Amino acid sequence: MPVTRTQVGIVGAGPAGLMLGHLLHLRGIDSVIVENRSREHVIDRVRAGVLEQGTVDLMTAAGVAQRLHREGMRHGGIGIAFGGNRHRIALAELTAGRAITIYGQNEVVKDLIDARLETGRPVYFEVDRVGVHDLTTAQPKLRFHHGGDAHEVTCDVVAGCDGFHGICRTAIPATHLRVYERDYPFGWLGVLASAPPTSDELVYSLHDRGFALFSMRSPSITRLYLQCAPDENAEDWSDDRIWAELTARLSTSDGWAPAVGPILQKGVTGMRSFVAEPMRYGRLFLAGDAAHIVPPTGAKGLNLAMADVYRLAEAIAEHSTSVREDALDAYSDRGLRRTWRAQRFSWWMTSMLHRSESDNAFDRRRQLAELDYLVGSRAAMTSLAENYVGVPFD
Ligand SMILES: Cc1cc2nc3c(=O)[nH]c(=O)nc-3n(C[C@H](O)[C@H](O)[C@H](O)COP(=O)(O)OP(=O)(O)OC[C@H]3O[C@@H](n4cnc5c(N)ncnc54)[C@H](O)[C@@H]3O)c2cc1C
Repeated sequence: MPVTRTQVGIVGAGPAGLMLGHLLHLRGIDSVIVENRSREHVIDRVRAGVLEQGTVDLMTAAGVAQRLHREGMRHGGIGIAFGGNRHRIALAELTAGRAITIYGQNEVVKDLIDARLETGRPVYFEVDRVGVHDLTTAQPKLRFHHGGDAHEVTCDVVAGCDGFHGICRTAIPATHLRVYERDYPFGWLGVLASAPPTSDELVYSLHDRGFALFSMRSPSITRLYLQCAPDENAEDWSDDRIWAELTARLSTSDGWAPAVGPILQKGVTGMRSFVAEPMRYGRLFLAGDAAHIVPPTGAKGLNLAMADVYRLAEAIAEHSTSVREDALDAYSDRGLRRTWRAQRFSWWMTSMLHRSESDNAFDRRRQLAELDYLVGSRAAMTSLAENYVGVPFD
């Protein structure tokens, strides 16, 4: 079995693992990335699309934002629709110019894979039997099989960037981990459609029939979501049924409605809030969805992953030059503070904009009163805006 050495062993080539590898490379720190899916699968996975200002700034500073600046769509506001009316929240005006950028997570991943390959540093796709070992020693190990061969990599640090279903979090003894979670009684049916966006900005809508979100990926592709049951089968939704429901939930009294077109992709996602504390066990550090999950309403998951690896790269760099543990020790507490702020915001957006079967008439009127207050108060809109565009990475 080939035994090699690296400074940082990274499990997972999603946004967190790839960005961490790149930030470490920029500081001259060596890493090995292992990913159990194929390169094509990782690139084709359609997921997030809203980048916070901090994510755009980080990608720009890291030299991986050329295409993002060319093809990404910078938005200075979002729409909130309820009671048949659409209201605008002027994100940039309320936050001294901070904004969001629409750029698919799959495009981010593609750019980061290209950047990784250019560095010549190792990234192994389609690995299996990945395991992390000796985590409480100064030389943790990453073991995996690739192309039928067993590999062992001795590291200074292992980064668990392997998402919610990965193996890193579960390698931590239960006695060292505290888990907080909440499941929601609904999911999202996500649709990618070949139809030009009819709004320049996202529209979040609460309708008597439930939540809907209008978003886009390019001048000819829209991305739309419908609240549905968490165990809904996407195949039960014909194109006609999807468009009838989207049109009913999104159309507003000013005559606005989404354009209808062929549906290219559809799928159902459950909604969950989840935090594992601390984000560290010995020399294993969790980042991104491996440590926390938010319901997608607040568009925070990918951005939290980016904020985590920014902090982790800084901490590893400081440790590698000074051998001091302070920065590594502070990683989890600093990350959890940002995580819990994002949890609160994502829960609040989700509760405000979804219908739950357990809600009674009082809950529905309260929800509408909350939306009415939101769009009528500069203070309330500023609170939403600063959370939505995201506070600067610390
Ligand atoms: C429908 C949907 C919409 C979303 N919208 C938004 C949005 O608008 N904005 C936002 O910020 N977030 C959004 N998110 C959340 C966002 O996609 C995630 O938070 C983000 O992917 C987290 O990145 P990550 O790198 O931590 O994890 P992942 O992207 O899950 O990457 C983990 C990687 O590890 C790999 N892996 C798993 N197990 C192993 C193993 N044993 N060995 C090796 N590799 C392994 C996986 O294959 C994967 O490539 C959305 C999510 C969904 C599902």
